[in-house]
Amino acid sequence: MSDLRNKPESYWKEKLTPEQYHVLRQKGTERAFTGTLYDNHDTGMYECAACGQPLFSSDTKFESGSGWPSFDQPVNSSNVELHEDRSFFMRRTEVNCKNCGSHLGHVFDDGPRDTTGQRYCINSAALNFQAKK
Ligand SMILES: [Zn+2]
Repeated sequence: MSDLRNKPESYWKEKLTPEQYHVLRQKGTERAFTGTLYDNHDTGMYECAACGQPLFSSDTKFESGSGWPSFDQPVNSSNVELHEDRSFFMRRTEVNCKNCGSHLGHVFDDGPRDTTGQRYCINSAALNFQAKK
């Protein structure tokens, strides 16, 4: 297991922008249609903004209309971890980066029926996009 999980919050506060810190470390959610990546259609890899682990490929990104980057599966299921989230009186499944434990977003079961049926609804602020050269 990565030792990034044992870093103090001060480490992340220094490393991340205030918006990234709010989303990744305080389980925040950016406002819909305000992120930098929901409308990104370039080919490449979406990585964890905190630790750089590859999380989602542009091949699996789809138009959900939600205003957040949406993917039907992670690039590798062992790169993310899922937790039940009962905050805000809802029952949701939280998606975290497995490498550093940071919060990414949530996964719902209303994704495209022709693939996985899942919708990984991920904050732009939690991702860095690496365009394929
Ligand atoms: Zn990470």
